[in-house]
Amino acid sequence: MKLMTQKKSFENQQKEQQRCIQATMLRIKHKIAVISGKGGVGKSTVTVNLAAAFVTHGLHGKVGILDADITGPCVPKILGLKGERLQGGPAGIELALSPYGIKATSMAFLLPSDESPVIWRGPLKMKAIQQFLSDILWGDLEFLFIDLPPGTGDEPLSIMQLLPEMDGVVIITIPSEVSQEVVKKAVSFSRKLNVPIIGIVENMSGFVCPECGAEYDIFGSGGGQKIAEDLGVPFLGKIPIDPQVCEDSDRGTPFVLEHQDLKSTKAFMEIVEKIEGFLKNETRNKIDDSSNNDRSLHTTEEEK
Ligand code: ADP
Repeated sequence: MKLMTQKKSFENQQKEQQRCIQATMLRIKHKIAVISGKGGVGKSTVTVNLAAAFVTHGLHGKVGILDADITGPCVPKILGLKGERLQGGPAGIELALSPYGIKATSMAFLLPSDESPVIWRGPLKMKAIQQFLSDILWGDLEFLFIDLPPGTGDEPLSIMQLLPEMDGVVIITIPSEVSQEVVKKAVSFSRKLNVPIIGIVENMSGFVCPECGAEYDIFGSGGGQKIAEDLGVPFLGKIPIDPQVCEDSDRGTPFVLEHQDLKSTKAFMEIVEKIEGFLKNETRNKIDDSSNNDRSLHTTEEEK
């Protein structure tokens, strides 16, 4: 009997949390997850710079990042929010605001120090993600970018299940064959969960020597484009290796804002344009769908 009551109260708590997530997420217009098959391919760098690129469209304070990498959170460092702590109030938990006007939350804001590891199994990580979505005061946002840990484990699965209305995923890879193999898994994962794939980005694609101008394909070349063609998903573009990208990230400044003349920034902005194109198409399709629905309702009424 006691067990039954506990089960019922757990189910009620879950329902209440799901209702909270839905209410919070209704106030966020676009949600985009950034995923990769492997770690170290530049996923967090791309997430932060995407948010930075979108914030420049008059969206100061209207763009957020959820760092959903519970065990290896990197967003605060790249965003210039290292050492920040989440502040709780009666209404909920306040987000940290970066100097660039990007709101963010991360497990790193809850850890006592940089060296503290998070040694959690799946259910605890899932609970943390649920709370990030339900208990944080996200407010009205135009964009939420979600930086997911590499692979297709607990956190990506939780996010996809908790946010079924996600606009889509951007998949990051490097050109090497090893990376291409795991990209296939990321594509299958998104397809299995019915999440639209906005496209693949090939990061760390070639290096131009600043001394002699010679080009080197350190991790190979064209792997991202090839895998996109093979799998029938859009290819969004290539970002070259640039020591400035790494330096800016280490300093906590988005390279797209700090160094607008870089080849990497120009390449990145072309990727941003393609993502905007995807979102415009998506909005148009939604409007078409709703007017078709209106029309079919109208016909049905007339037929009556
Ligand atoms: P992930 O999130 O996939 O683990 P990160 O975004 O943390 O990868 O990037 C890993 C490292 O590579 C970081 O030090 C970052 O500054 C660097 N990096 C990412 N993209 C580039 C690039 N295009 N050129 C140079 N360094 C890069």
